[in-house]
Amino acid sequence: MSVEISKPIYSITPFTLLDYPNYTACILWFAGCNMKCQYCYNPEIVNGDGKISFDEALTFLKKRVNLLDGVVISGGEATRNKELISFVEKIKELGFLIKLDTNGSAPNVLKRLIEKRHIDYVALDLKATPEKFYSITESKLERKFWESLQLIQEAKLLHEVRTTFHRDLLCVDDLRDMSQKLDEFGYQNTFYVQNFRGEKETIGQLNRSISFKSDEVVDFPIPVEIR
Ligand code: SF4
Repeated sequence: MSVEISKPIYSITPFTLLDYPNYTACILWFAGCNMKCQYCYNPEIVNGDGKISFDEALTFLKKRVNLLDGVVISGGEATRNKELISFVEKIKELGFLIKLDTNGSAPNVLKRLIEKRHIDYVALDLKATPEKFYSITESKLERKFWESLQLIQEAKLLHEVRTTFHRDLLCVDDLRDMSQKLDEFGYQNTFYVQNFRGEKETIGQLNRSISFKSDEVVDFPIPVEIR
């Protein structure tokens, strides 16, 4: 379901060297999400209201032209917003590269962004195996992820797939199964596994997890990098 709100952005991170590979960028954090991931460490963004309008964000971005390479659209889940496409068009007109962080739940929105050549890089979150998808995300949107990945692959768009790992939710065999499915799907990039960082309160009130380690990457069919 798409939503329209007058202040859709929760906050702006004005500068990052980490979130857009090889580029300087800012991050626009969209409020609200259609999932409730147990390990989500942004409950204030997922459950909170936005504080910044698109016009206010564009005013900020106009002051960053020639100072930043790109804009990361993150959240929350930005593809829920029905004005996203026209907003992204305005950002492109300013000359920025655009990276979209998404849970992959809106292939219809992704398709339009791709057709309009509005996005340059996509980071897609693969949340879980089909069996664990609902218990981890409280959503039934797993199939949409694969539709999104197919669109991105067909468009030959730069992309990465990543998974957050918490040992109470996923096991190493789950990660292996997910990487197997990605391999069968034709995914040819690195599979990034982000170890849960238990520094903040999470939606599922999780405690610190035992990290996934590189010596556990045994019999994985595709390259795995641990973050
Ligand atoms: S981690 Fe899950 S709940 Fe949190 S913003 Fe991403 S998709 Fe939404």
